[in-house]
Amino acid sequence: MIDITLPDGAVKKVSEGTTPIEIAKSISEGLARNVISAKFNDTTVETVTPLTENGTLTLYTWNDNEGKKAFWHSTSHVVAQALEELYPGIKLTIGPAIENGFYYDVDFGEHTVSEKDFPTIEKKALEIARGKHDYKMRSVSKADALQYYKEQHNPYKVELIENLEDGTITFCDHSTFTDLCRGGHIPNTGIIKAIKILSVAGAYWRGDENNKQLTRVYGISFPKQKELTEYLELLEEAKKRDHRKLGKELELFTFSQKVGQGLPLWLPNGAALRERLEQFLKKAQKKAGYEMVVTPHIGQKELYVTSGHYAKYGEDSFQPIHTPKEDEEFLLKPMNCPHHCEIYNSQPFSYKDLPKRYAEFGTVYRYEQSGELHGLTRVRGFTQDDAHIFCTTEQLNDEFKNVIDLTLYVLNSLGFNNFTAQVSVRDLENPEKYIGNTDDWEKAEQAIINAADEKGLNYVIETGEAAFYGPKLDFMVKDALGRNWQLGTIQVDYNLPKRFDLTYKGSDNELHRPVMIHRAPFGSMERFVALLLEHTGGNFPLWLIPTQAIVLPVSEKHEKYAEKVLNSLENHEIRALIDNRNETVGKKIREAELKKIPFMLIVGEQEEASETISVRRHGGEDLGSLRTEAFSDLVSTEINSTLKSF
Ligand SMILES: [Zn+2]
Ligand SMILES: [Zn+2]
Repeated sequence: MIDITLPDGAVKKVSEGTTPIEIAKSISEGLARNVISAKFNDTTVETVTPLTENGTLTLYTWNDNEGKKAFWHSTSHVVAQALEELYPGIKLTIGPAIENGFYYDVDFGEHTVSEKDFPTIEKKALEIARGKHDYKMRSVSKADALQYYKEQHNPYKVELIENLEDGTITFCDHSTFTDLCRGGHIPNTGIIKAIKILSVAGAYWRGDENNKQLTRVYGISFPKQKELTEYLELLEEAKKRDHRKLGKELELFTFSQKVGQGLPLWLPNGAALRERLEQFLKKAQKKAGYEMVVTPHIGQKELYVTSGHYAKYGEDSFQPIHTPKEDEEFLLKPMNCPHHCEIYNSQPFSYKDLPKRYAEFGTVYRYEQSGELHGLTRVRGFTQDDAHIFCTTEQLNDEFKNVIDLTLYVLNSLGFNNFTAQVSVRDLENPEKYIGNTDDWEKAEQAIINAADEKGLNYVIETGEAAFYGPKLDFMVKDALGRNWQLGTIQVDYNLPKRFDLTYKGSDNELHRPVMIHRAPFGSMERFVALLLEHTGGNFPLWLIPTQAIVLPVSEKHEKYAEKVLNSLENHEIRALIDNRNETVGKKIREAELKKIPFMLIVGEQEEASETISVRRHGGEDLGSLRTEAFSDLVSTEINSTLKSF
């Protein structure tokens, strides 16, 4: 008999050789029907792998990420089989699961595959899946494995096997198909009810551009057709909301190959948006006791050697900048923190002066490979809404509460109402991984947890996820499409105060080391605007949107009155434009809709006579004729409902 420990701590005594699926059955038939993959002692196993020793078993269903991973990887085998049957002679390489679905890299030889072939591939793969074939793992000697793929003239699998150790090599069979595979499959192909080939793209063998270019076939699969339909709808919506597309349509930002990849250029609309976001945060930060500082875009290499950033970013980063005469070396600033440490160091502080809270919209530069760049979410230069708080350990709890308040204020004002928090703490079993003394760590972790409790946050504690230099609190925000984004990290740091020898004079007249907190509610202006665009689909909150209203005169005759209306709106601090072009009102409305302008104000004969405007809301709702004062009240009411004061 062996002891199998389940995640809830329960221990099952079973005979040696019992499989995970049998254990699931012994718990409940319902569970057994839903279990599609398993982990035993932290290693992925098949649901039919006989367990031969004591250990911990976790069972996964489609609702778990691990379950989805097994489901999608298993589907990649089926799709590979379909491809082999449809395109004889192709050479298969690797086919892993990814965040959403799976891919298979294939050398198609003389065949080409494009979108028009997808339905045929899907049909064939589904046909195979319906055969309800079991996935069966078997061990193969290195010699046999090599021979198998040499006979198939597949140099890729041969290369993979050559790098494996004899005795560790396994094949997976289902139906008539065999693949080199480490395992992690669902019980059989019959569970796969819907398969979609999503795209094809070029991919170099082993990611090396000196190697042959293969075709990467992306796909996804589901246990229900309905789930595939919903996923495709979501994908369609995500395409519409892609921040790169919206950024262009709303004229917010652009990129220039001349200026350089990954370096966004903000257009007037985008700059105005950023400015408003900055003012919004600056105002709240001022109330929260922050002081603004300004630091340069470069710093001496020595600064980053001291901070430790040189060791982290130095080698793979931008190259140093050398001055013409003196032997000086500078680096583009990858982080604002070292500069802020030196600001703290510029004068002596006593415990009565703390906390010091230095804030800066600081632009930093980090090298990213060109293939990694993506719109505003992966760039080479970006501006952080950065701040560093220097305080005593006793002040950590209050400071955390303040930062949580500020972060929640930011999220709520911008329409992010669905979020959870994560507290990352030490792994107590590996104390050597962390710097700083145990007592301080305990206090800091407790301070974060207490602050999260007192603020009523919905949080989870992740053991071992803390940085080596301190525990942290992260916010995970769910956007309108259900995707998770990490935002607003609050990080405790015992490392930099030590590296920069920061001190304050305590009530005992002795010098003490302050604790540092890094925090940035937006993260960076670039990533945040991208997220905001995709979350709102470009329909920004009224207080933030660049143009709140547009005046649309029905004809030239009403231009004068339209100007008068515009003037009055401006007096009420409403950001408005006028569309004076010699076009029909219908066309002007359509274009204003595309520009996502919240209010269209139509002025013609009637409106002029009654000194009103006809108000149409973005999306089509008719608000009737209003006087500009009434309209301005409507705008302020709406703004005040989302933008409270801090
Ligand atoms: Zn496999
Ligand atoms: Zn920092």
